[in-house]
Amino acid sequence: MTDRKTELAANLERVEQRIAGACAAAGRDRDEVTLIVVTKTYPASDVRLLAELGVTQVAENRDQDAAPKAAACADLDLTWHFVGQLQTNKARSVAGYADFVQSVDRAKLVTSLSSAAERAGRELGCLVQVALDAEAGGRGDRGGVAPDGVEELAGLIEAAPGLRLGGVMTVAPLSGTYAGQPAAAFERLREISTSLRAAWPAATMVSAGMSGDLEHAVAAGATHVRVGSAVLGVRPALG
Ligand SMILES: *Cc1c(COP(=O)(O)O)cnc(C)c1O
Repeated sequence: MTDRKTELAANLERVEQRIAGACAAAGRDRDEVTLIVVTKTYPASDVRLLAELGVTQVAENRDQDAAPKAAACADLDLTWHFVGQLQTNKARSVAGYADFVQSVDRAKLVTSLSSAAERAGRELGCLVQVALDAEAGGRGDRGGVAPDGVEELAGLIEAAPGLRLGGVMTVAPLSGTYAGQPAAAFERLREISTSLRAAWPAATMVSAGMSGDLEHAVAAGATHVRVGSAVLGVRPALG
């Protein structure tokens, strides 16, 4: 193995042990939690190595980086998640390679993604990104819709051709009530997911937890964790 592949394998093994440990601690089966590796800022060659090491799901947060990377890895049969703030003029590009858009946070984006998915002849899984730090009606500083807007947006996604409601996603807030409280934040997301599933039982995905807080997310019922730096290394610049 190359040095890089050996390094990635060791990092993946550590992350796998953390997820397995968190599942055991929470009394959950390991297969209830899916690892998504966030490959932003890292090259397509790393994505290829990750695929060789058994990774099947990857995530990106900027279309201008993700589009060429996904094209370079089109032979790998990976599931691609888009997790960044998304401008409507990028919807068409994202719909060309993404299987899931986890950062759906406004009605206008639903409309754009729907027509882009239809035009591409693809079905896009959509997660409502919840801004736990947003005041009623507002949006968080990292994107997302306030908790009281989740249901309305979910309804729009479900009604939109080409889109399928997958569930909810959040990033633990840096400010507001939940700052420094990932466990409480992820418990709140669990409540939001529970009420969403009462209306749409198929919307089972709960995407929460990153390198620093994945244990809290697994404890609070996350079905998907998004791990970047713990697998690939600390990103040199803003990603
Ligand atoms: C970068 C990113 C991650 C991964 O963060 P790490 O701390 O590197 O694990 C997860 N989710 C989103 C939305 C991200 O942008």
